[in-house]
Amino acid sequence: MIPLLRTAPTARLTRLCDSRTLKIKAQGATSEAAAEQWSKADAAKDEIRSLLQAMAPGRRRCMYCLDNLGTDIDHFRPKSLFPLLAFEWENHLLACSHCNSNEKRNAYPTDSSLRCLLVNPSEDAPADHLTLDLSSGEYEGRTAKGWTSIKVFGLNRPDLMEGRLDAYDLCCDHLPLWHTKVRGGDLLGAERTANALCREFPDVLGALEQLPDTAGSRMALGDALIDALTAWTRAA
Ligand SMILES: [Zn+2]
Repeated sequence: MIPLLRTAPTARLTRLCDSRTLKIKAQGATSEAAAEQWSKADAAKDEIRSLLQAMAPGRRRCMYCLDNLGTDIDHFRPKSLFPLLAFEWENHLLACSHCNSNEKRNAYPTDSSLRCLLVNPSEDAPADHLTLDLSSGEYEGRTAKGWTSIKVFGLNRPDLMEGRLDAYDLCCDHLPLWHTKVRGGDLLGAERTANALCREFPDVLGALEQLPDTAGSRMALGDALIDALTAWTRAA
């Protein structure tokens, strides 16, 4: 998971959503009213999906797993529990059908103070709560919120871990290639490589950027990769 910058809603979306929220209120602000209004709101959903796709990582990736195509509008705070937030732009994230329908569903765990125990990539800094182990492709929690998010979002599904290991290998190959292009003055080529890396492997790149430049990491990963990472981090 990586941090996401939420864009401002369009005036059209605000108008469409406010209208639906008023109808939910008029129907008693129940979960049934929210579900009914949501099922009818094709224009609002098209606008929401379009805006979410524009702010999604990579090629419209799921904002939770970063692996699959984001197809569903997820209500971070479920509309069954928070009917009046069904049309709140800040409550919408783009998720793949697996994360939305098989993993998170209507989960909204909280602690004893009713603070949410799920990482919202558009509100939280995921790195404060989650660490990616590059040797296994497995996420580990740094906080209760991180551990709960791993469980609820299914972040350590075997297919996701295998994908992260592949991404790690490819990043290790391509970061030195990017560095060679930079040092050789091929700035256009370097930019294309950097853009491709950022699009395809954002969470693995984020974890690589945290690796320290120490004798131990140079021995384990090689000077070429650590030099490339140092230059990469400076250029970011
Ligand atoms: Zn997903």
